[in-house]
Amino acid sequence: NRSDVHYFGAGPAPLPTTVLENAAQVLLNYQDKGIGLCEISHRSPEANAILAEAKGALVTLLDIPDDYDVLFLQSGGTGEFSATVYNLVAIWVEKKRAKIAEEVGDDEAEVLKRLRKVVDEELKLDYLVTGSWSLKASQEASRLVGAKHVNVAVDARTANNGKFGSIPAETEWTLTPRTSGGGPALVYFCDNETVDGVEFPSFPQSLEGDDAPLVCADMSSNFISRKVDVRKYAVIFGGAQKNIGSTGIAIAIIRKSLLPPASKPASPDLLRALNLSVGPIVLDYPTIAKNNSLYNTLPIFDVWVAGQVMSSLVNSYGAKRIGGQEDISNEKARLIYDTLDKYSSVYRVVPAKSARSRMNICFRVHGGDADKEKAFLAGAEKLGLLGLKGHRSVGGIRASNYNAVSVEGAQKLVTYLEDYAKTA
Ligand code: PMP
Repeated sequence: NRSDVHYFGAGPAPLPTTVLENAAQVLLNYQDKGIGLCEISHRSPEANAILAEAKGALVTLLDIPDDYDVLFLQSGGTGEFSATVYNLVAIWVEKKRAKIAEEVGDDEAEVLKRLRKVVDEELKLDYLVTGSWSLKASQEASRLVGAKHVNVAVDARTANNGKFGSIPAETEWTLTPRTSGGGPALVYFCDNETVDGVEFPSFPQSLEGDDAPLVCADMSSNFISRKVDVRKYAVIFGGAQKNIGSTGIAIAIIRKSLLPPASKPASPDLLRALNLSVGPIVLDYPTIAKNNSLYNTLPIFDVWVAGQVMSSLVNSYGAKRIGGQEDISNEKARLIYDTLDKYSSVYRVVPAKSARSRMNICFRVHGGDADKEKAFLAGAEKLGLLGLKGHRSVGGIRASNYNAVSVEGAQKLVTYLEDYAKTA
């Protein structure tokens, strides 16, 4: 039975029971229309209202300023690894083209010649690689634009025996220098690394300032779990399936100055002439934005689920908005980490203290003894504490502490951690 279980899976993840109960009903009959939500047109007034509600709730929760747009996409988090590259490279190239054209005038052949050289020598995409997901994103960038254009400004494994688990000091990062009219096409980081349990404690200082680079952040696994100063980012994105909703949609928050009419991306012809790849239309932010996320068939049911979850947070926390959820997330994480630290002869938290994720709590039992970890998981399962197995690539235990994990669930896990440690 659902009420007997606390699920700590890393994603897909638990959803509020009331939302699922309502979902079951709207699947059959939406607003007494006699047909269900998966059956109505994504262009119907109902669908538009659902989209507007979800957008509005996210804007309220995160206090998203007017000069940002919210897009709903079917790309998954992974598709956004590619989308950020395609879109921001196209903007970077067009800026360079315009600057060169100012200098040389209408001589298109000369513009192209110079632009080729500039792209070849100056195009850089900076990646902060602090875990498996930012690593994957950097690999996708290399695949799309070529490894020589990808600057891994930090690889957290280097100083940590080849393993992820810390965020090296910013003084050690080798970011592409900011120059007037230059700098990297983007700086990318993953705010919370789901597999490795590493979370940025705050926004990196070296990415701030009047001449700040275009920052893209993957918030798939800590979306709407804490306050975010949206203005510091060019693009924030995340899959919905952890903190927000069901699998099937991703959400991107994008600075409007990166969209037409303020910004123009390089044309597909120009990109091809420069041997740069042209992204698929479904990953094209200007196209998605212009069509209010309805360029093609959006899974409105998924948007509805996300909207219900976010609206209920808005209703619960009122003026505190996402700060209310942040307090709860922090408290649940504190309870669990405190217990792990208290029994440090039995448990070892994997990441460094300064980089511990509030969302994905990764630890080993008895130094990673395989049989003992198996027994630990079996004991948890008996109590209805499910989904605690670590990612297959790193093993160990991972308690994912997303928004729908209740304080009671965290407390039950704490009790089990205590009981297990006392008898171990
Ligand atoms: N980024 C992060 C931080 C993730 O945790 C995941 C998935 N677990 C992804 C990206 C990839 O998302 P998707 O499976 O939706 O492509």
